[in-house]
Amino acid sequence: MSALNLLEKYSVAGPRYTSYPTAPYFHTGFTEADWAAALDASSAGRELSLYAHIPFCDSLCYYCGCNMVATRDYSKTQPYLATLNQEMARAAQWIDPARKVRQLHWGGGTPTYLHPDDIRRLMAMTRSHFNLAADAEISCEIDPRALTRAHLVALRESGFNRVSFGVQDMDPAVQQAVNRIQSAALIQQVLDWSRELEFSSINLDLIVGLPKQTVASFSRTLRQVTEWAPDRLAIFGYAHVPWLKKHQHLIREADLPDAATRLGLQQTVNETLGAAGYVNIGLDHFARPDDELVRAQQNKTLWRNFQGYTTHKDCDILAFGASSISQTGDVYMQNEKNLKRYQERVAATGFAVERGLKLTRDDQIRRDAITRVMCDLELDFACFGNQWNIAFNDYFADTLTDLQPLADDGLVEITPDKISVMPSGRLFLRNIGMTFDRYLREATDALPRYSRTA
Ligand code: SF4
Repeated sequence: MSALNLLEKYSVAGPRYTSYPTAPYFHTGFTEADWAAALDASSAGRELSLYAHIPFCDSLCYYCGCNMVATRDYSKTQPYLATLNQEMARAAQWIDPARKVRQLHWGGGTPTYLHPDDIRRLMAMTRSHFNLAADAEISCEIDPRALTRAHLVALRESGFNRVSFGVQDMDPAVQQAVNRIQSAALIQQVLDWSRELEFSSINLDLIVGLPKQTVASFSRTLRQVTEWAPDRLAIFGYAHVPWLKKHQHLIREADLPDAATRLGLQQTVNETLGAAGYVNIGLDHFARPDDELVRAQQNKTLWRNFQGYTTHKDCDILAFGASSISQTGDVYMQNEKNLKRYQERVAATGFAVERGLKLTRDDQIRRDAITRVMCDLELDFACFGNQWNIAFNDYFADTLTDLQPLADDGLVEITPDKISVMPSGRLFLRNIGMTFDRYLREATDALPRYSRTA
């Protein structure tokens, strides 16, 4: 089957598996008492990964899938920071102070919407509640457009050592179509500042599948980006879900690339980044061969969570801010998404639990299987079966049946010992993950609507 026929066949609605079960299956019967119990029961031996969500942005990018608020009213940040402080203080009451924070990430929205003094203040609050390891990985998502050197100095002085810039696409027609204009000179400037300030890792985010994108235009973007030589690149597929994100109706569907163009875009990404020396890590991440993500993939210790691929598998994630998702060993919890209600609820109780889920043993087994396939690109039946004390072929009989057509199409290889993802299957990791998903299998007519897998 041709590559284009494969894309047309397997481009279906499906989850990205940053969690399993996926977020639509979190339920509102999960209460604040359940979350307090989960924190209390969380293992003292596990290290922590903290996340803070800063929802404010100067303006709206039409492709945006984040929980954000476009506002020019900076005063809104002050009650929000006070709420974050209160929420962190409440959660910290349940956490053994000896537990080290191994990783900290600010996302949004636009974290650098905060003025430099407020960046320092939020980090000081965080340090007052939690025990950050001296060598913790501390990273921030950055919109280059309103960034000043003073923002980067504040981040560096607060302990941040990693930065991630939203580049998306450098073509003027694409930038116009998504309402995000940023010149090459601007990106060059923020990269120069970051290198002067000695951030240890620079990531650039790009998006494929944006309106007006062509293979030729995106090749130019990729060539420009490889000249900037970031340590890592994340190439996300645009998720067009206007039924969830109403503002995406501002994007003309006729301007979105068709299947043949999407295939050409993927091929250009793989060829250009491969030629520039980057290694493709699973779905959407690329890194230099000596990067710890690449080493973790080789050692089979790579993991996947709400922030994408990570080397910190054994951390509990404590997430603060509107819509953020926390995760202990066997629980997911999502905060209230609405900014006003989030603030009111934290003011009342210190928590803002909107929904959550306690995983069953079957959920944990399937999560591990999906993660292993998406991170290791293979799954050894005996090894996995021993780990979970199951007979793999019996437990996953339905999965093996569902995988057979993918094997017939050359996306995976199934031998008596293991499943391996073939090079042509890398684009369809989400489809492969779906064969392990009990919720999709058992769904009746009320199936959640996901973005397209490829
Ligand atoms: S800056 Fe980021 S979060 Fe804000 S609107 Fe644009 S894409 Fe969304």
